[in-house]
Amino acid sequence: INKSSLPSANGNDTRSPTCSPDHVLNLEQGDPAVFESYWRKMGDRCTMVISGSQLMSYISDFTNICWFMEPEFEEAVRRLHRVVGNAVVDDRYIVVGTGSTQLYQAALYALTSPGGPEPVSVVSAAPYYSSYPDETDYLCSRLYKWAGDAYEFDKNGTGPYIEVVNSPNNPDGTLREAVVKNRGDEGKLIHDLAYYWPQYTPIIRPADHDIMTFTFSKSTGHAGSRIGWAVVKDKEIARKMSKFIEMCTLGVSKDSQQRAAKIMGLLCDGYQNCKSANKSDDLFFEHTRQIMAERWERLRQVVERNQVFSLPKYPKQYCLFSGELIEPYPGFAWLEAKEEEEIDSQKVLRGSIKVQGRTGRRFGVAEKYVRISLLCNEEEFKEFLERLSTIKSMTSNGH
Ligand code: PMP
Repeated sequence: INKSSLPSANGNDTRSPTCSPDHVLNLEQGDPAVFESYWRKMGDRCTMVISGSQLMSYISDFTNICWFMEPEFEEAVRRLHRVVGNAVVDDRYIVVGTGSTQLYQAALYALTSPGGPEPVSVVSAAPYYSSYPDETDYLCSRLYKWAGDAYEFDKNGTGPYIEVVNSPNNPDGTLREAVVKNRGDEGKLIHDLAYYWPQYTPIIRPADHDIMTFTFSKSTGHAGSRIGWAVVKDKEIARKMSKFIEMCTLGVSKDSQQRAAKIMGLLCDGYQNCKSANKSDDLFFEHTRQIMAERWERLRQVVERNQVFSLPKYPKQYCLFSGELIEPYPGFAWLEAKEEEEIDSQKVLRGSIKVQGRTGRRFGVAEKYVRISLLCNEEEFKEFLERLSTIKSMTSNGH
C-alpha cells in the first residue's frame, strides 16, 4: 500500500497528493486500477451476498479432476472464452488457481518428474516477464531451474527444457511464438496469455496450445480476487496441476470463484443481450479498449514531442472479436532511451521526475529500457504525462 497517496490529515492541502512534486509516482507494478471506472458504472449489478452458511466446504465437485473448482466458475470461464474467441475450450480441461502465478508453478511441477540427472531448463525470450526467474528459482527445486533467454538457449542450450511464451508479451506488448526450435520431444511449452484480451490486442485466432494460463487480474481487472485459470489439453497434466494446488493451498477460495463467475457472467450478458452499436460504451472490452487507445495516443504525443525515449511500433492486425483492423494497446509502456547505450533509464526517471518504473535489467535486457505501467488510475496517468513532458534530456539534469 502506498501510504503517501492517502489524503492529508489536516485537510489544508486541497491538491491531490498524487500531484505534489515530492510524491513518488509508483508505476512499477501492473495494478489494474484503470478498469475501476467501468465497474463503478455497473453499480450494484455485480454485487453478491454470501451468507455465513454458504460455501463452507473444501469440496466443489469430486467428479471433476479439479475437484475444488466451482462448477459456476468453470461454466463462466468457458462462456467468456466463447464470447471473446481468444482460446479453444471445447474438449479442454480447466484448472482454477490462486492467480495465474500459482498456475505457472503448478505447470512447472506438472511438466517435470523427479529423478532426472539435471533440473529441466526453464527459458523465455528476453525481454521476459520479470517474475519468471524469481518464481522458477524461489524454492531451489531439483525439478527445474531458470535458464534465461530462450534465444540464447536456442543457440547454445542442450537437454530438456520448458519455454514460457508470454503473448502479448509483458513488458514490450508484442505477440509472440515459441523461439526454441527443432528439439523433438525435449521441449514443453507454457503459454501465458494474461494479456490476450481485446482491450490490449487484436484477437488474431483462438489460441490452442497445450497449457494456456489466463488471469482475472488482467482480463477484467480484479487482481485482488487472486483468480487465474489454465486451459489444458492433456488429462494427466491437468491432474498434476490440480494436485500441486491441492498440496499448496488445498484448493482456491470459493468466495473468489463465485464472485469471478458473477462478474464474467455480467460481462458476457452484455455481449449476448445488447449487440446494438450505440450501447457499446456499456460493453466491457469496447469501453476499456477506448481508454487504452486514448492513453496510448496521449503517451505517443508526449514521447514524440520530447524525443528522449522511443516506444515500440505495433502493426495493425485483423481482430476476430471486433471484426476490424486494430492496433495493440499494451498495458505497459516499454520505453527505450534514445541518447546513450549505457544510460540507466529507471534511475533517471526516479531521480529527475520521481517516477518509479522497472528497469530493463529485470526483464533480461539493457538498463536503457524501463517499463511503466499504463494500468494506473486517470489521475496518476495524467500526472505521469505531465512529469514526462518536462524531461528534455537523459544525460543532463536540464529537465
Ligand atoms: N503473467 C503475466 C505476464 C503477468 O503480467 C502477471 C501479472 N503481473 C501474471 C502472470 C500474474 O498474474 P496473477 O497472479 O495476478 O494472475
